Amino acid sequence: MRALTHWIGGRAAAGTSGRGGIVFDPATGEETATVPFASADEVDSAVASAANAFPAWRATSLSRRSEVLFRVRELLDARRKELAAIITAEHGKVPADALGEVARGLENVEFACGIPQMLQGAYSEQVAGGVDVWSVRQPLGVVAGITPFNFPTMVPLWMLANAIACGNAFVLKPSEKDPSASLFLAEVLHEAGVPAGVFNVIHGDRVAVDRLLEHPDISAVSFVGSTPVARHVYERGTANAKRVQALGGAKNHMVVLPDADLGAAADAAVSAAYGSAGERCMAISVVVAVGGVADALVDAIAGRLATLRIGPGSDADSEMGPLITREHRDRVASYVAGAAQEGATVVVDGRQTRFEGNGFFLGASLIDHVQPHMAVYRDEIFGPVLTVVRVDSFDEALALVDANPYGNGAAIFTRDGGAARRFQLEVQAGMVGVNVPIPVPVASHSFGGWKSSLFGDTHMYGPEGVRFYTHTKVITARWPDPATSTIDLGFPQNR
Ligand code: NAD
Repeated sequence: MRALTHWIGGRAAAGTSGRGGIVFDPATGEETATVPFASADEVDSAVASAANAFPAWRATSLSRRSEVLFRVRELLDARRKELAAIITAEHGKVPADALGEVARGLENVEFACGIPQMLQGAYSEQVAGGVDVWSVRQPLGVVAGITPFNFPTMVPLWMLANAIACGNAFVLKPSEKDPSASLFLAEVLHEAGVPAGVFNVIHGDRVAVDRLLEHPDISAVSFVGSTPVARHVYERGTANAKRVQALGGAKNHMVVLPDADLGAAADAAVSAAYGSAGERCMAISVVVAVGGVADALVDAIAGRLATLRIGPGSDADSEMGPLITREHRDRVASYVAGAAQEGATVVVDGRQTRFEGNGFFLGASLIDHVQPHMAVYRDEIFGPVLTVVRVDSFDEALALVDANPYGNGAAIFTRDGGAARRFQLEVQAGMVGVNVPIPVPVASHSFGGWKSSLFGDTHMYGPEGVRFYTHTKVITARWPDPATSTIDLGFPQNR
């Protein structure tokens, strides 16, 4: 088994706390590595290394920072497959999904390469006689990122690309379930010329997270994960006067109107619900079938599931991989059992799919006639379980989506421009898809949900990411009229 390390001050640092966890290959159930869990002292050492590196990095010219980011982009681009293989080995998602994750992460590095443009300030000349005012954006100092298991490359890149480009030093606490991708990123950043200490990785659990949330030298914390932990991070971080953006869980709805292209809607539902085994915060977990569309839509989705190939990422034919842990797989399966007990119709029961070996596999489930009071509707399941709620009208569909406590993504499938426009105008969600099931914004826009899907007021990456990682300074300057100068500037009055 490999023994993983932290990454502090530009090099690997063995864990010293005596605590740690096991990393599995979810496709085989084998233990592949040990991961150290940082003590508060180890967190302090990573923060100290970042704090030491910050002044020089902040003083580094924008063109040089941009040049380093271009180099990061080139190295990651050249090593996409290697990184995707690391993701597949620890997360379990199939290579196409892992490569997609790397591509979406790279977008954020590409965006950050344009940092000289994004940090441009504003200037007001002659606001009073001889007085000019201008504003600039300056880095915060040491900032931290705490990330979930489901995108071990993309979510860290959502944060670190902009944070570093803005001139901050960064401490990443990745998920302990699939920690190797963050160490790969650390090595690539190092090779690209990111100075030692500007990017650090500490592994761990709540001990490390809580130390980051109280450390006096951390200015801001970005978090992505489940809602209960997001709430904790937001409350603890802001109580310690830190800037915090904490993205939480989701329950994303896809409304299908009777006029929708049914084939396209069924394809979209299958890829958005079961891709990456449903372990995506933007996965569709509820199809809201409006009017008479339900029977045909449920049949079309069930038909597609019959041919969905579930298997390890090492098999080129696999379209869906295993879940992250055995415990999570069993928890997801328990929701299918619970739904049947609560009176829903289990159309496709993923528990009946048989797999060889000890991997954490679960078949895809489709559950119809789901009611909002059922646990399978209320809870974020985060697995390959798609529920169908039948409603009579567009208004009922909208009311259902809006009553849900989560507000990450919401999608509508229709050919009617008026209905789509009303949906995008009124729906209470941060990211909306029109005939697009997973509306993750491109890197030049920002990502974030509403309601219990986000604590804080700034979305992640894109322009809002740059705002999050910088504070504004406004300078007001008065200069006397040069004609009154005592130095001979060539004005006749001074002679
Ligand atoms: P998680 O909340 O269990 O863990 C996220 C991070 O918090 C990890 O680094 C973990 O080590 C740490 N953590 C876990 N428990 C903690 C505790 N009690 N105190 C302090 N830190 C703790 O989430 P996960 O299971 O890794 O990821 C799945 C969740 O993330 C889902 O709820 C999913 O919706 C959400 N997610 C949201 C987004 C988004 O953009 N809104 C994106 C990806 C994932």
